[in-house]
Amino acid sequence: MAQGQNNWLRFLPAVDKVLLEEPLSRLRDKYPHHLLVRTVQEVIAEQRDALKKARGEEEALALKISPYQVAEKAAAILDNIFKQSLRPVINATGIVLHTNLGRAPLPDDAVKALQAIAPSYCNLEYALSEGVRGSRYHHLESLLCFLTGAEAALVVNNNAAAVLLALNTLAAGKEVVVSRGQLVEIGGSFRIPEVMKQSGARLVEVGTTNKTYLSDYRRAVSSETALLLKVHTSNYRIVGFTSDVSIEELVGLGRELGLPVMEDLGSGVFLDLAPYGLPHEPTAQESIKAGAGVVTVSGDKLLSGPQAGIILGKRNYIDAMKKNQLTRALRVDKLTVAALEATLKLYLQPENALEKIPVLKLLTCPVESLLARAEALAARLEEEVRQHATIQIEREEALVGGGSMPQASLPSCQLVITPHHMSTSNLAYKLRMGTPAIVARVKQGRLYLDLRSIQQSEEKVLLQRLIELLQGGEALQ
Ligand SMILES: *Cc1c(COP(=O)(O)O)cnc(C)c1O
Repeated sequence: MAQGQNNWLRFLPAVDKVLLEEPLSRLRDKYPHHLLVRTVQEVIAEQRDALKKARGEEEALALKISPYQVAEKAAAILDNIFKQSLRPVINATGIVLHTNLGRAPLPDDAVKALQAIAPSYCNLEYALSEGVRGSRYHHLESLLCFLTGAEAALVVNNNAAAVLLALNTLAAGKEVVVSRGQLVEIGGSFRIPEVMKQSGARLVEVGTTNKTYLSDYRRAVSSETALLLKVHTSNYRIVGFTSDVSIEELVGLGRELGLPVMEDLGSGVFLDLAPYGLPHEPTAQESIKAGAGVVTVSGDKLLSGPQAGIILGKRNYIDAMKKNQLTRALRVDKLTVAALEATLKLYLQPENALEKIPVLKLLTCPVESLLARAEALAARLEEEVRQHATIQIEREEALVGGGSMPQASLPSCQLVITPHHMSTSNLAYKLRMGTPAIVARVKQGRLYLDLRSIQQSEEKVLLQRLIELLQGGEALQ
């Protein structure tokens, strides 16, 4: 214990005094009194601990804190606690499916379904016509089968869970043959080999990174083999000197050897987007038609629904998965069921899907429309903030993102802002900290807002915030 410490504790302000200081007094009506007191006590306690560790007068003096400073600290802590941590974001990065930004924004129909279901009880596991217990999986199964041609379907928490459940059910304690070129790592360090290990299945890698032939699979099959697996390398492509085995070929081999074949499509789609200028991405329908016994798809990648893992396939495999105890740990909640059902219904009419699903709308929007929008925004900014910033338009490619279509770069255009009276990083920070947050890219001292991932409905508030911040730039320095 340092000498004179009791003396130094005099440097700590009294709680009553702190509460009267402006940063806290203005919060008196906003937050409950006991929380104001508790936060002040905590800030003071922290300061007391620091003072106790002080070695000498000089250090102690440096730790002296005024009632106003304590009030400021406490107010910041309280504001932080009460502020919603999960906030809406305007995505100006140009990456349409941005995993860090929550992947797919939901279509209005899904939002309406959430609003209808969230505040009430619902028939999640109740058969209304008979008045008896039902199954939560029932709500989506026939719709999924209708859309994809699958015999049966099951929805779990996400696609990683779908892969885990399928492997555990079909191949625990046995071997799964997979091409070395498909042992993908997906964002957030999700690795196929690791998930397989957790499932209890043993991985048998065949071929080389760039080439795998059907004969490689055939040679690897033994009495221990339970499954042939194909993983759609949806977040990267091995280009050039490559050779891959198609799902049709693999299904043929599976038939010959009496083995089930599974395809993990990752960002599979229910709608071929090639007619709309995007590269062909294998659809779930194609995989089912080719005869895959199990197909897994992510709910919130190109499908553009809520986070979910969709398992499609032959009735006997899906039934076995439904009986697996693991399913209980991976099950979806009523909100996911509600949002997914509404999203899937949009796929019953492709024009509807393209018009009403935000991700598909963003991805298929012609670059000329983006350019026209950028020009309109630039013109408004010119009017309002000419003295405060330089406004330009550039044309650069955007990305699909979310581990989807790695080679697809979409033609896009960016609003490029160079502020005169504040640093670009400060402008970017202020944009991120507002509500809604606006996330843009900073490159070489300029702020890039990519129109490809900005929804038209977001433009008004985006413009407003830019004008406010740039006009206030001098004051904000
Ligand atoms: C994204 C992806 C997954 C994981 O899907 P989540 O829904 O993110 O869990 C699994 N496999 C492949 C091939 C993927 O692209």
